[in-house]
Formats: sequence, C-alpha cells, structure tokens
Amino acid sequence: ADSLTHPLLDGLNPQQREAVVHHGSPLLIVAGAGSGKTRVLTHRIAYLLAERDVRPQEILAITFTNKAAKEMKERVDKLIGPRSAAMWVMTFHSACVRILRREAARLGFPSGFSIYDQADSQRLMAMVCREMDLDPKRYPPRSFSAQVSNFKNELVDYETAADRASTHMERTLAEAYKNYQRRLTEAGAMDFDDLIMLTVTLLQIFPDVAEHYRRRWRHVMVDEYQDTNHAQYTLIRELVGTPELRTADGDLVREGSSGIAPAELCVVGDADQSIYAFRGATIRNILEFERDYPDARTILLEQNYRSTQTILSAANAVISRNESRKPKNLWSDQGAGPKIVGYVADDEHDEAMFVAQEVDKLADDEGVVPGQVAVFYRTNAASRVFEETFIRTGLPYKVVGGVRFYERKEVRDLLAYLRVLANPNDVVSLRRILNVPKRGIGDRAEAMVEAFAARERVPFAEGLRRAGEAPGMATRSVNAIKEFVALLDELTLKAESMSPSELAQEVLVSTGYRAELAGSGDPQDESRLENLDEMVSVASEFEEANPEGTLVEFLEQVSLVADADQIPVGDGGQGVVTLMTLHTAKGLEFPVVFLTGMEDGVFPHMRSMGEPKELEEERRLAYVGITRAERRLYVSRAAVRSSWGSPSFNPASRFVAEIPSDLVDWRSDPKKNAWTAATRREPSRTAPAGRKGGRQIPSLKPGDRVTHDQYGLGTVVSCDGDKAKVDFGSGGEKTLVLAYAPLEKL
Ligand code: ATP
Ligand code: MG
Repeated sequence: ADSLTHPLLDGLNPQQREAVVHHGSPLLIVAGAGSGKTRVLTHRIAYLLAERDVRPQEILAITFTNKAAKEMKERVDKLIGPRSAAMWVMTFHSACVRILRREAARLGFPSGFSIYDQADSQRLMAMVCREMDLDPKRYPPRSFSAQVSNFKNELVDYETAADRASTHMERTLAEAYKNYQRRLTEAGAMDFDDLIMLTVTLLQIFPDVAEHYRRRWRHVMVDEYQDTNHAQYTLIRELVGTPELRTADGDLVREGSSGIAPAELCVVGDADQSIYAFRGATIRNILEFERDYPDARTILLEQNYRSTQTILSAANAVISRNESRKPKNLWSDQGAGPKIVGYVADDEHDEAMFVAQEVDKLADDEGVVPGQVAVFYRTNAASRVFEETFIRTGLPYKVVGGVRFYERKEVRDLLAYLRVLANPNDVVSLRRILNVPKRGIGDRAEAMVEAFAARERVPFAEGLRRAGEAPGMATRSVNAIKEFVALLDELTLKAESMSPSELAQEVLVSTGYRAELAGSGDPQDESRLENLDEMVSVASEFEEANPEGTLVEFLEQVSLVADADQIPVGDGGQGVVTLMTLHTAKGLEFPVVFLTGMEDGVFPHMRSMGEPKELEEERRLAYVGITRAERRLYVSRAAVRSSWGSPSFNPASRFVAEIPSDLVDWRSDPKKNAWTAATRREPSRTAPAGRKGGRQIPSLKPGDRVTHDQYGLGTVVSCDGDKAKVDFGSGGEKTLVLAYAPLEKL
C-alpha cells in the first residue's frame, strides 16, 4: 500500500493506481471510453522506469497511430525526464518494419525492401491476374487482393489456402495468392499485411530471433487491444513468449516453455469501441484474454473523466442496444452540462452552414476556439461540403484523411522513382514510371518486355535491360528503353551521395517531370508542382529530424503515415477545426463535437442496415463518436442530401432516436423531412425530384427509397409480388400491400 502513494500515482483513482503498479501476471484493463486507459499505460511506463528499475530498451508499447506514440513518449518524458528515446513506442506496423529491416535476409528479402500499400498491392494483383489470364469481370483483382489480405490477417499462407479450397473459385484464389507472393518476393517488397505476418513467421521459425526479442522486451503493452486481429494477437504472444499457442479457431498448436520467463504483458481496450472488424479485428482477443492467459488479472475502470453526464448517458443509451456485450457502468462527476443539440438541416449545405454558425456563436458566447472543435462524418466524401462552406465563411479548418497527400498521382510518381532507386526490383514502382513522363515506351512495348522476362524467367528490371533481345520489338522502343535504363543508372549513382531531398529534386529535373508540368499552363499542373515541392520539403524535414536518415528510412516513414497522424497539433493559439471520419477519431477527445449526417443510410451506412452484426459495428462507431465529446455534442442530419448528383431523402438515424429525448435540445423540427423542408424554400431552389402528383402503384426493387404517408421515409428490403418489405429506420420494418399502401417511390 506504500507504493500507492507515489507521486507518479497522483491524479489517478484507486483502480488506475492498481493497474499502474501491478506486477508479474498478464494484466487486462477493460473499460469504457474516456476512463483513463491510455493514461494508465503512460503512467505505467513512467512508473516502470522510475520505480521498478526497468530500462527503456526493455519496453515495447503498441499504440494505434504514430501520433499517439509520439504523444505517449512526450508525456512519459514530462513525468520522469527525457528517458523515452530507447523505448519502442509505436504502431504494430512500425515495430514490425524495424524488426524486419534487421532480419529481412533470413526471409530472402533485401533489408531495403519496399512496402506496398493497398494501391500497390492491387496493381501487383492485377498483373498476377493478367498473367493467369483471368477474366477481370469474373475474378476482380481488387476482390482477390482483399481476400488475400483477409488470409494474412488470419495467418493463412497460400499453401493452407490451397488445402482448404473446395470450389474452383477458391482454388483460383489460392493460386493467385501463391503467384502474388512469388511476385512480391521477386520485387523485394512486402505488403502491409506481410509486415505483421512475416514478423510472426520470423519469430516462429527462427528460435534465436525469437529469443533475442524476448530477452530484450520484458514489458509489452498494447493500447486499443479491441482492434487487434488474429495476426497481431499471435505476434504479441510470440513476443511475450507465452508457452502455448492457438490458431484462429482456438486449436492448440504448441505447448511447453521457451525457457525464458514471459514478458509482463499489459493490454487495454474496450470491446464497445471495436470498429475495425472489416480489417479482421476481433473482440475475441479481449473477451477471451483470461482464457488465453490463464493467470491474467483484470481491472475494470468505471469513472469517465472526459465527458459530462449528459454525453455519457447518451453514449450508454445507444451502446446498450447492442445485444452481444457485457453491460458496463460508466459514470462521470462532471455534472450534467449543456444538453445535446439536435438540428435537422434542409440539405447538406444548410447543415454545414449550421456548423459554421454554431462555431462562431460558441466563440462569442463561451470563448471556444476553432482548435477545440471537431466535425465527424461517416465517409470521407462528406468533407467536401464542409470545406466549401468553411472556406466561404473564413473558418480555419483541416481535413484529416480523404484523398491523402501521398495518394496524389504526382506524389506517387515521385515516390515511385525514389523507390526504384532504393530497390531496383520494385516492379510495381518501376512499371509505374516506365513511361512517366512520356518517353515513347508504350503499353505494347511494356507487354513485350513482360512476356520476354517471363519466358527468360528473369525479373522485369532485367527484362528491360535486355529489351534489345526481345523478338519483334521496334527499334524506337528499344532505344527509348535504353535511355530510360541509362537515366536510372545515372540516378542510382547519384543516390549514393545525395540526401533524400536532393535526390527528389534531381529526379524531378533529370526526368523532365518538372519541366513538363511547368510548361503546361494548366492550373491543375501548377498545383501538382506545388505538391511536388511539398514532397521535397517533407524530405528536408525528415533529414532535419534524422540527420543520419537513409532513403530507405525516409520511404518507410512515408509508407507508414496514417490518416490519424495528420491531426493538427495544438499550437497554443486558436487552432483549426478538425474534420475527419468517425474511424479516425478513435482515442481522441475534443471539447466540442459535431456528429453530422445522422441519417439512416448514411450512418448507419446503407451497407450495414440489413446485417445485424454490421449494424452493431456501426453502433459501436456511434459510441466512439459520441464519447469523443467533452462538453458539447451536436447531432445533425439533412432532410435532403444530394449524393452522386441525385437527391436522397434519408430518415433520421436510428442512433439519434436511441438517445433519450430529454437529453436533446432540438433547434429545428426534429421530424422535418424533405417535403416540409421544401415548402419552406424559395421557389427557385430545386424541389426534390420524382414527386409530380398522380398516384400510381409503384414498381419497386430492393434498395429503392420510398415515402409512406404515415411511416415517413424508408428503404425497400425485399419485394414479393404485390407486397414489399420496407425498412422505415426507427419506425421499424413493415410489409406493405402495394396497391393499398400510401407509398411512393422516390
Ligand atoms: P478512449 O477509450 O477514448 O481511448 P481512454 O480510456 O484511453 O479513452 P484517456 O484518453 O486515457 O481515456 O483519458 C480520458 C481523459 O480523462 C484524458 O483527458 C485524461 O487525461 C483524463 N483522465 C483520466 N484519468 C484521470 C484521472 N484519474 N484524473 C483526472 N483526469 C483523468
Ligand atoms: Mg485511449
């Protein structure tokens, strides 16, 4: 009990203190949002260093984003002085890359291996499918790519996939998986999922490697444990060095002890915030922690320090609708606070305007600054209207995610050059830049090189060098390819003595890329040039932060940037309003939160509405969104929303209906719909299409939107002759006889 009064335990409640000082057995901290889980991890690290004589290099802490990792290190340094440098506090992917760079040769990869993101791996899969002569309509490469990713998240290799295949489709997929993997190895590249899976493989087949890391890390910690997938789960078990190991299905595959005492494991999470099932995350990992680690200790935290009771009550009410969950009792002593504000906008422009005006009003009335405000939406596309409105009203903002900087064509082109210079076998990058800028190497020439390389069983890069030998190749093409190869050789030579930023500049000049854009006069190209300059300064910043940094390290940092890493940092000034998707908002907190697009079909997402499991995941996402708010929460929707050019009429989100009505203060008629909104409008504004009087029996198909005089707006679930089943959102599902129901198709 003595140790429970240490200064590092100040500002923690008794359960949190217990978690910080807990010794020995594996520790699970399960608790609702804002209960101080992340804070406990930070204090635990500080306590280990300061009080238990743990050395920084013995600590591995996994966070969900690079930004969260940086913050955690900074806080530890604040608590106990600058000792965090040798500590590994990072994401799963960053930790694995660092391990793999050291050990790549053992798996047959160069230590400068390329990292393929989703777009790269889809391109590679497309090459594989072409090579296999698969009809892209029947065997879409994107879908293959996604399924291979699922396999890897479950640690299923291509041999196992082939063994399990029972249909022609499954066998084809397993074959594509195998070829894809071969192509990756040839290219000296790993995709995102490989980073985890290959690290697991490495630890499992090389006992000396496993032992090295087990000796090193005596403390392993994981934040957001509810969002780990099976591969990540296994990785943790391998690193901790637990004696037995199970497959995704729970079968025991290994028993016995490795000889080294397992590391101390501490994981924190909240099953109600699991929102990455689509990436293979499974709350099984948290629910069955006690089974996986039989001597585990579990600590529950129940006090929320983030939000007012009003916000918490709303969050609790919503999440309690999920069936498969353990009830929790989260409370706050911050008082009720202001009511939640509800608003039904006429359309999405009106909704954005409402947000802008409210932020202004909060600034005047309560001294709120833009940096304290976040606007959340379900999908990235929703950000555009907010941007337009905020630009017009002069509200400073930043969009996090969306079409990311690193996904722009010109930025990817430049990065592809750098990647080829770091790893000449990187076939996806090489083929990307083959004719960029245009240098007379057409698709036909590329295909001929590909066929030649395949026949000679050499990598594409070598096929290029020997293009002259390829039968039937036009002399013009051969010459163009020769020049390209010479250019690359020259750049490769320069790469040895240049820093990443100098090299980036050199690439832009000597390839003619910059000149081409500069000469075009197209304003689009001007902004492309700006992006390229921005990319060069990203490289310069990297060099400042890492004076010894190599090209490979620079490329790695760029590959591992996640959406959430772009969240603006508090500059102590006014800051900017942060716009982001709900998924990106995990772990964050803001004094003021706007949850927008609260419409059935938008959020919950249309895709999830017929699927109870997916609907539960959407509800967890709503829970995440609500619990980001500290003091003020807004929920808004639009009566009419134009999506893909045509208006859609969405009923209120069921999640709003699940918030107890006494917690919400409506600033507009909460039942406003497309028609009441339209009647208030100027005649010049377009009325919703499709309602021209004269009632007929509608012909419907699943997915059609309809309106019913009594139940309001709904979505057709299924049709059966003269009847249709319609989902009216919070109004429930109804089966209607088309000839009689006062129903119209929109
Ligand atoms: P989430 O589930 O959203 O990730 P969390 O459980 O990780 O939330 P934290 O982010 O660690 O919660 O804490 C939420 C807020 O409450 C933070 O601002 C944190 O500093 C504060 N907090 C946590 N514990 C205490 C405490 N004992 N006293 C005062 N403030 C606290
Ligand atoms: Mg947290």
